[in-house]
Amino acid sequence: METIVKGMDCLHFIDGRYVHSQKPKTFDNINPATEEVLGQVAEGGQAEVELAVEAAKRAFNGGWKHSKLSERAAILRRIGDLILQRKDELAMLETLDTGKPLWLSTNVDIPRAAGSYHFYANFISTMGTEAYPSEAGAMNFVVRRPLGVVGMINPWNLPLLLLSAKLAPCLAMGNSVVLKPARWTPMTATLLGEICKEAGLPDGVVNIVNGAGRSVGEAISEHPDVRAIAFTGETTTGKSIMKAGSASLKRLSFELGGKNPNIIFADCDLDEVIDTSLRSSFINQGAVCLCGSRIYVQRPIYEAFLEKFIERTRQQTVGDPLQPNTNIGALISKQHYDRVLDYIQSAREDGCVIETGGNRADGLDRGFYVEPTIITGVDAGCRVVNEEIFGPVVTVQPFDTEEEVIALANDTHYGLSASIWTKDSSRAFRVAHQIEAGLTWVNTWFLRDPRTPYGGEKQSGIGRQGGMFSLDFYSEVSTICIKY
Ligand code: NAD
Repeated sequence: METIVKGMDCLHFIDGRYVHSQKPKTFDNINPATEEVLGQVAEGGQAEVELAVEAAKRAFNGGWKHSKLSERAAILRRIGDLILQRKDELAMLETLDTGKPLWLSTNVDIPRAAGSYHFYANFISTMGTEAYPSEAGAMNFVVRRPLGVVGMINPWNLPLLLLSAKLAPCLAMGNSVVLKPARWTPMTATLLGEICKEAGLPDGVVNIVNGAGRSVGEAISEHPDVRAIAFTGETTTGKSIMKAGSASLKRLSFELGGKNPNIIFADCDLDEVIDTSLRSSFINQGAVCLCGSRIYVQRPIYEAFLEKFIERTRQQTVGDPLQPNTNIGALISKQHYDRVLDYIQSAREDGCVIETGGNRADGLDRGFYVEPTIITGVDAGCRVVNEEIFGPVVTVQPFDTEEEVIALANDTHYGLSASIWTKDSSRAFRVAHQIEAGLTWVNTWFLRDPRTPYGGEKQSGIGRQGGMFSLDFYSEVSTICIKY
């Protein structure tokens, strides 16, 4: 395929303009598939966050907070349209930044990002509000007002998609925003600044500051004029942000890590399970928070599952993300590549069996490629079972009874999602109801309706996003009680 873009330099986008850092400083943006430099990224800090927050406050108070709902819906719709018009360019930038296959960026990341703007444009257009007549002769109206300046801190795994899932409802409610893309993946966010402007969004409503978590992320989290933080990333980072935001009692939406169980009962449709488990294990190099990285298989089909799953995993093509037949691209960075290989090494040291994979992918001189890896012989003490690896690595364990697998599935401080495979609908509901997860799928995976609540239990998150749940987070919900 012809490469349409080869990378770009990334500046901050503040008050409707692309700007350098106050003290010009940049860092290299590396293509994880080739280790080549894609461009220079402006390294922001406290000073740029200050400018961005000031711009966001001016835009909010200067009219955006009183903007008409129909105006905001029209802008959101145009942002979605422009993203689709520039889909190929955005998909290429996403792939160059992340190392994920281009077909994935083209068919999932970018269209789903556009979908968030279209969804909230329609959702707010038909939105009403609640009214509670009281027996004491009063009518209680529920009203929603925007919060003000919202901070957004984003991860690298699904850059534009996850950013848009937050930004669309936030803008829909009339807030202004200071957002930080992940250090590894600034390109699509940078282009989004231009798209927002072209869509008619007033200057200063969306501000983008590039840089490190420890400087830009912390400055956003601590800023007294930032009313709320919407964060997606690691659980440990969430804890730091919570501390930093505590002085100004910020409202928090946290989408954190997962170690999700994929529970396969003997009465499942095995072919469908294998197909979907390949995706839920290895898509996006296993770096999707919803990946089913702990696979539990009921004993009667354990051997059959394992044999087929290993065979199909060995057929996965690891390599150049630009090739259409590539299933698994590169990991995001050298640091993450080392971390994933270190987890696999820990499994060896714990006496586990590496059924397939376990090494750097063959025949690739440069880039951060790891083979899809299946580990068995694990027990509850192994790091590979307890900690989120966020790479193409899964464990497979047998089980006998429902009670046993429910206990295994819940034996984690995470609680993001789960999948259950069975043809017995009573069992499906019974088990699903006992799994501690914000989202449980039965006989499917990654099927999302944007109206439904999304978020994690336990240390996988705080709050819920999606439809009205997002709109409530991005607004002050208050009551006006009128006595008649
Ligand atoms: P990360 O926590 O390392 O970084 C996320 C963002 O936080 C980045 O922009 C980073 O620069 C910033 N950051 C880092 N330290 C900070 C600090 N002290 N203060 C403020 N900001 C800081 O996460 P990552 O490696 O980019 O992403 C992977 C993680 O994200 C995984 O744990 C994954 O499960 C999680 N994730 C969760 C969901 C979900 O919906 N629950 C979705 C995607 C990813």
